[in-house]
Amino acid sequence: MHMDNLNLNGNVPSGDLADKWTTYRSTLPLVAPNNKLKIEIIVVGTGLAGASAAATLGELGYLVKCYTFHDSPRRAHSIAAQGGINAAKNYRNDGDSVFRLFYDTIKGGDYRSREANVYRLAEVSTSIIDQAVAQGVPFAREYGGLLDNRSFGGVQVSRTFYARGQTGQQLLLGAYQSLSRQIALGNVKMFTRHEMIELVLKDGKARGIIARNLLTGELEKHGAHAVVLATGGYGNVFYLSTNAMNCNVTAAMRAVAKGAFMANPCFTQIHPTCIPQMGEYQSKLTLMSESLRNDGRVWVPAKKEDAKAIRDGVKTALDIPEADRDYFLERRYPAFGNLVPRDVASRAAKTACDEGNGIVPTGLGVFLDFSAAIERYGKSKANILGLSNPAHAKVIELGEKVIEEKYGNLFEMYEKISGENPYKFPMKIYPAVHYTMGGLWVDYNLMTNVPGLFSIGESNFSDHGANRLGASALMQGLADGYFVLPYTIGTFLSEDISTPKLDVHAPEFTAAADLAKQRIDKLFAIKGKQSAESFHRRLGKIIWEYCGMSRTAEGLTSARQQVRALRDEFYADLYLPGVANDLNPELEKALRVADFIDLGEIMVVDALDRNESCGGHFREEYQTPDGEALRRDDEYAYVSAWEFKGADQDPILHKEMLHFDNVELKTRSYK
Ligand SMILES: Cc1cc2nc3c(=O)[nH]c(=O)nc-3n(C[C@H](O)[C@H](O)[C@H](O)COP(=O)(O)OP(=O)(O)OC[C@H]3O[C@@H](n4cnc5c(N)ncnc54)[C@H](O)[C@@H]3O)c2cc1C
Repeated sequence: MHMDNLNLNGNVPSGDLADKWTTYRSTLPLVAPNNKLKIEIIVVGTGLAGASAAATLGELGYLVKCYTFHDSPRRAHSIAAQGGINAAKNYRNDGDSVFRLFYDTIKGGDYRSREANVYRLAEVSTSIIDQAVAQGVPFAREYGGLLDNRSFGGVQVSRTFYARGQTGQQLLLGAYQSLSRQIALGNVKMFTRHEMIELVLKDGKARGIIARNLLTGELEKHGAHAVVLATGGYGNVFYLSTNAMNCNVTAAMRAVAKGAFMANPCFTQIHPTCIPQMGEYQSKLTLMSESLRNDGRVWVPAKKEDAKAIRDGVKTALDIPEADRDYFLERRYPAFGNLVPRDVASRAAKTACDEGNGIVPTGLGVFLDFSAAIERYGKSKANILGLSNPAHAKVIELGEKVIEEKYGNLFEMYEKISGENPYKFPMKIYPAVHYTMGGLWVDYNLMTNVPGLFSIGESNFSDHGANRLGASALMQGLADGYFVLPYTIGTFLSEDISTPKLDVHAPEFTAAADLAKQRIDKLFAIKGKQSAESFHRRLGKIIWEYCGMSRTAEGLTSARQQVRALRDEFYADLYLPGVANDLNPELEKALRVADFIDLGEIMVVDALDRNESCGGHFREEYQTPDGEALRRDDEYAYVSAWEFKGADQDPILHKEMLHFDNVELKTRSYK
């Protein structure tokens, strides 16, 4: 354990920030090629993090077993990522560098992440692009053939590589084909429709998992020398989110139940540009990529009566003259305007709606308007075509074509869902849960506090502090999987080269399988009346209301009681149809909801402990007179890592103190 009086050590190697990773990578213990052939590694998850890790570990010669609950590795939630992936290539010659990407990420995360990890991320970002291009990922290109870049929030350079609005899909296809190659070579054994529902420890080390075969219901024992969790984020604790419906926290919480620490669980990201919720029984929210803020201007009517008229359907956006529009991001944050980071943009939209200027019937919506960009691009295109004095209609036609080329699939998706043409009327948007910065605590090697248990991608807490910048999740997942874990896992495995193949008949495996079976039996024994889905929806409402975009000590205290009461009700009145030994999606859901409830309580406890505002964590008691977040570096410059002691006990807080030697802690300002 990396613990000292509840103080955690991130095991960051010594040396200058810029040389740290290169020096460490060149000196860390390796596993010789002949020994790799005897070492098994379990990778749970096939999103960008898991697929890239499994493919790379297979290529290195390890015996990899890879798991997903989906029917194909390609269905991982990563496929939904739209906007792009950052890298410090400086192709635009606009002043980008590894240090600037590092700095933007540390600042964007409101100084709550580990310097050394973030610098390493920025450093390897350039290799990711080379790797993806070599795989044939069709990134957008400029006329001259160079890869194109666009801007994302919280930065003043263009460093985001993209493949229209399908960047995640294209990157995942690249990682998947590398994985498929390793599967074909026999280096990776792929288990689809398998869900990890228990972690196996032997002599204090992670040595296997219990996976439920989702088609037959059988509980299978799988052993390995090390276990890597690449199981994604927990945004669905809110029930409504932009995450894929299946995303869940079970793998992480099973690890937490076995002693792994959950770090910064209250750091969740609310994305400013999503399609507003339209009904009580809606189960999914849809993201409109942040890339749209490159060209879209966010506004609400300046006059409350206009906002009401729009809500009542008496007026539309087009009836509001320019002088009566409040472009509130441009007004409040002139330096970054519509490209402020997500936490700042989300809170500003909430404020505008709380003040009564929202534009959808629920009052929770603002406009994202492309009309100025359409006209600007149209004029420029007309110029290129040599059209002098083109008619306004011609300019608009040309401008709309440019916008279509950039964001066509996003506009189409918006129109299909909302029934409104976003080329003619501004989009209606509102913040929604999108990403979780918190996750399993890991050290510099990406190993949790449980030896042999690693966590990569969104499932760990590592790089984004209290707020993630756009296009940095894909970067982190692929950095972890292709370029970091394959080296750092050697530090653990090099000590294990003489450990024989794990025997799944050992008592530790039987005990873990029994534990999983007991949990399932307990749920079936309840025989209540309410579905798992209904509990999930109620949990989501509690967490959104009290641990969402703004939080107070009073609300969080009440939320904790409400989550506890919900847990009691869940175990007293859950209705679970079907049987355990068969395909049973309701059982899958119930197991996941049980873990979401326990996570929900830890989130609330974490938010209550952190008496400051930073990034996505906005405590109303800690704000400046003009409503900005008030950080308290003297007391809270630490990572909170929670040790779970059971649902009926208080979790124990371990702190990893954060040290900043290369950046000065400043009040984040985008004004
Ligand atoms: C709509 C949307 C758009 C986004 N766009 C961008 C973007 O443009 N740029 C950007 O940088 N980021 C973006 N993000 C964030 C980014 O997509 C995610 O953070 C990232 O893809 C997560 O990758 P991952 O590999 O960590 O996890 P996932 O892709 O979520 O993969 C998790 C994997 O784990 C498996 N799994 C989970 N639990 C278990 C279990 N118990 N047993 C077996 N298997 C399990 C799943 O089957 C899956 O294969 C977006 C997010 C959303 C919601």
